[in-house]
Amino acid sequence: MSHAVKCPVCNGTGTKGHIEDYPGIMTPKKCYGCKGKGWINIDFPRESWEISPFEQLHDLHKALKDVETLRENNFKAVMHR
Ligand SMILES: [Zn+2]
Repeated sequence: MSHAVKCPVCNGTGTKGHIEDYPGIMTPKKCYGCKGKGWINIDFPRESWEISPFEQLHDLHKALKDVETLRENNFKAVMHR
């Protein structure tokens, strides 16, 4: 599965920064992220295609919660020593 998205480096403009060709003359530099096209093709596996952003966010929250619990338990362990 591939998907075209707006280039995050140049935000779709196709240029990134400037180059001084001649003294005092600045020319827009071709974006290194999309090679001047303004968009990039992203290939991603089918599995990630099926996971909705909401589910991904949920997993992230769960992971953060786990870390929190772990930290809390460690703290308690230290207090009871
Ligand atoms: Zn770009």
